[in-house]
Amino acid sequence: MNAPKLLTDSRTRAAYAEGAGIYRIVPAGVAIPTNVGELAELVRWASQTRTPLIPRGAGSGMPGGNVGTGVIVDLTRGFTDLTIDAKRRVARCGASVTWAQVTEAARVHGLRLPPDPSSGAFATSGGMVATNAAGPRSVRYGSVRQWVEALEIVGVDGEPRTVRRGTGSRLPGIDLRLLPKFPRTRKSSSGYALDRFAESGDELDLLIGSEGTLALVTAVHWRLDPIPPDQAGVALGFDELGALAEAVPFLLSLNPSAVELLDASLLRLIPDAPPSAVLLLVEFERETAAAARGVVGDAVRGLKHHVAHVETAVDRAGLEKLWEVRRLASPALARLPASQRSLQVIEDGCVPVEQLGEYVVGLRAAAERHRVPVAIFGHAGDGHVHVNALPDLTQSSWTQSLTHLFNDVIECLIRLDGVPSGEHGVGRLRAGVLERFYGATGMEAFRDVKRAYDPLSILNPGVIIPAADWTPLAGLKVGEDAAAIPDDIAARLREMERAAGWGTPKLELAR
Ligand SMILES: Cc1cc2nc3c(=O)[nH]c(=O)nc-3n(C[C@H](O)[C@H](O)[C@H](O)COP(=O)(O)OP(=O)(O)OC[C@H]3O[C@@H](n4cnc5c(N)ncnc54)[C@H](O)[C@@H]3O)c2cc1C
Repeated sequence: MNAPKLLTDSRTRAAYAEGAGIYRIVPAGVAIPTNVGELAELVRWASQTRTPLIPRGAGSGMPGGNVGTGVIVDLTRGFTDLTIDAKRRVARCGASVTWAQVTEAARVHGLRLPPDPSSGAFATSGGMVATNAAGPRSVRYGSVRQWVEALEIVGVDGEPRTVRRGTGSRLPGIDLRLLPKFPRTRKSSSGYALDRFAESGDELDLLIGSEGTLALVTAVHWRLDPIPPDQAGVALGFDELGALAEAVPFLLSLNPSAVELLDASLLRLIPDAPPSAVLLLVEFERETAAAARGVVGDAVRGLKHHVAHVETAVDRAGLEKLWEVRRLASPALARLPASQRSLQVIEDGCVPVEQLGEYVVGLRAAAERHRVPVAIFGHAGDGHVHVNALPDLTQSSWTQSLTHLFNDVIECLIRLDGVPSGEHGVGRLRAGVLERFYGATGMEAFRDVKRAYDPLSILNPGVIIPAADWTPLAGLKVGEDAAAIPDDIAARLREMERAAGWGTPKLELAR
């Protein structure tokens, strides 16, 4: 078996220089393995030559784990197998298979993969596992972690193996008793999940969310769940952010399947959105239509003293309309003037649910202090909000302002016992702040994990474990210092970002 050809022409390298998120880093080359044997050969070659590899799916990840100066390993082409065992409710999906493809194949059996990333049309199984992805429904069903039965991986030794849940670990001794207390957020994709590993003793828990730094995933065995028969929902608008402190825990007590938040900072960009300080979109899944309608009534009655705007949705058309406002958010951001870029630098903080209101207040204050407009939305039920910074690129000090904003928001997250990433991962962007969340002991444990799997740091160096010269806002895709790439490729990458076209094969851009 031969290693795949290394593509090193400048147009191909440029086509892989960006992912979603803020970076443009031109790689040394690109390899597109078409099967496990080729991938294993590539990894052996990389280990022998000490060439860094950057595993990559669709490239829709935000914090820069899918870009780098080494060789990009494009895993979107060769790993497309998809088989469903409906009886066992398990789907075995090659790493290239997207969430949408799993969903479509499972639907005919009345099954689904419950966590539902908004990027499901293009996010690959490998990418979702590597980032411990989640979605609106994660408030009820958790992130992808608990839906992984087994992973097929290739380690840095080039050996393929399968890691199954419940079969323990072969990781050499890390004294888990020395671990610091991890923040108690409902979601986290912030470093190796040593807390989960300490509970389960399962190697799977270290691999899930490891962002391509420990192994390359070639297939995922997803656990599936029956599609629930009925749904109903309600949009609740509040005039005060303070109302969140009571409203969100109350809604959680009703076992919702989504509690999504749109802040005034985003609502003002969406035509016909209610003029609320904050809008919650809530969905319930139940066994019968009556039960779904009933719980919507409970939600409205329970919050009647707090809400300024109520719109219920008890059928499919109503639900479509309810979610329309959320769907209009991305096009609204894409319509911003060319001088105002939407940049994801503080986009994924997560706090304990009871701290959510205070976090949003802190975000707004930091944005005002540094004069960087922001748009805030996300997963209120998990204490997790996305924040797009919208700096004016015509201001000479915009990178400085963005750096101050980044630092202030990290401070705020630490103060509120939060984590820097709820679902997108640490990538390069947040690698240098992990120590402030987990302390020197936690960081040393992370380094021990990395050394145990990848002693020469071949796999995604600079991701999770920071590079010695870590600078979060270097290598940006915007501004005067952005790396030079051909204009037509830059324009197509920009279009891909605006239209969320991450499913486009990147080689097409190079033609
Ligand atoms: C419009 C938009 C909406 C989004 N919405 C959500 C959302 O709702 N929820 C959410 O969680 N995320 C969301 N994301 C982020 C992103 O889609 C997810 O992080 C997704 O899981 C990344 O999948 P990917 O295939 O694009 O991986 P990539 O971006 O290519 O890679 C992401 C990370 O995974 C690693 N990786 C990829 N494939 C493999 C593999 N086979 N083996 C080992 N490591 C690998 C990479 O090295 C990198 O560190 C969104 C992004 C966009 C652009």
